[in-house]
Amino acid sequence: MSVQFDGVRERLGELEELYRDLHAHPELAFQEKRTAAIVAEQLTALGWEVTSGVGQTGVVGVLRNGEGPVVMLRADMDALPVKEQTGLPYASDVTGTDSSGATVPVMHACGHDMHVVCLLGACAVFAGDRASWSGTIVAIFQPGEESGYGARAMIDDGLFDRFPKPDVILGQHVGPGPAGIVATCSGAVMGATDSITIRLFGRGGHGSKPEAAVDPVVMAASLVLRLQTVVSREVAAAEPVVVTVGALHAGTTAAVIPDTAELNVNVRTSSEATRNRVIAAIERLARAEAAAAGAPRDPEITSVYHLPATVNDPAGTGRVADAHRGFFGPERVIPVPPTTASEDFGLLGQAAGRPSVYWFFGGIDQATYGAAMAAGTVDTDIPQNHAATFAPVVEPTLVVGVQALVVAALAWLVPSTHR
Ligand code: ZN
Ligand code: ZN
Repeated sequence: MSVQFDGVRERLGELEELYRDLHAHPELAFQEKRTAAIVAEQLTALGWEVTSGVGQTGVVGVLRNGEGPVVMLRADMDALPVKEQTGLPYASDVTGTDSSGATVPVMHACGHDMHVVCLLGACAVFAGDRASWSGTIVAIFQPGEESGYGARAMIDDGLFDRFPKPDVILGQHVGPGPAGIVATCSGAVMGATDSITIRLFGRGGHGSKPEAAVDPVVMAASLVLRLQTVVSREVAAAEPVVVTVGALHAGTTAAVIPDTAELNVNVRTSSEATRNRVIAAIERLARAEAAAAGAPRDPEITSVYHLPATVNDPAGTGRVADAHRGFFGPERVIPVPPTTASEDFGLLGQAAGRPSVYWFFGGIDQATYGAAMAAGTVDTDIPQNHAATFAPVVEPTLVVGVQALVVAALAWLVPSTHR
């Protein structure tokens, strides 16, 4: 490995400061204006060709450096409507307006601020050491990952027509593992997600006259329980599947039986066959529950969004893992089982028709993680992504995130690896 990380070492203080600044100023999906402006300014200063406003608030940087493959590196930029409870000196107390117009607290609870800074750090390394590589790098700073629409918005805005088409697409996510560790697997590394809305129809009436009404609240309550049997009774034990009813809305007051009830259901699957089976079961149970209650009409079942599984190209994954092992040492590069979390990263490779590779890097202080492991309390003591207490340690997380991107990209961009 010939690349010099001197550029990043010199900039480390600056990058850490930028991380704390972005953490304190999180922005919701498709509102990443401040973040995007900082990214565009920094890339421009580093000599990258910069295009802003790709897929609303996305930023694309291109760095051409002679003959060779095109490598796309992706970071997401958006935060979540979560009230931060980390107690960090740079914690967010920002509020924002969500897509329904409500005022909500905003927090970088998924660590996308870390992704932005790591990719900017990698961009600085490549700009500062052009002698160590050749080819073209396309760095994309994606909006709206949490909304499920961000990658799609960039693709629909011509990501693969207006910019050099990548030979490989690489991305990474910080997670609740020990800092310093990089982890991935070949194949479906993250599952598919479906968000489904079920609207149940009853017949409203006076709370004192249930016999004259059809109560959608009881229908909804019963359906919530029935849906728990999809995973426990209809899916093989070894299949990682989750069905969660994350929202349930019906009625306004105690003495009125409402006309309708609405369930928002989240489904996580890791194969197309299982996904079809699980969704069919949910639809069947919803219709059957309505029929059992004597509902005046069938429920309306709407797909709100679908994200495919994130499938790591086997050859590309081998190449990235070899490069990571060569740089970090084999003990710091570990395999992970597929997770039931989802991403819209997989859409990029799918739309480009090119291989993609995604990996995780740890963000938890090693001593803290080690103590939780020893006590058997990792699940309860180590905050997961999206928790109000999720707080990656800045170092060594940041440096490892920069290095993981650079080293993986060089597995294509060092002239001896060109194919
Ligand atoms: Zn997330
Ligand atoms: Zn995320």
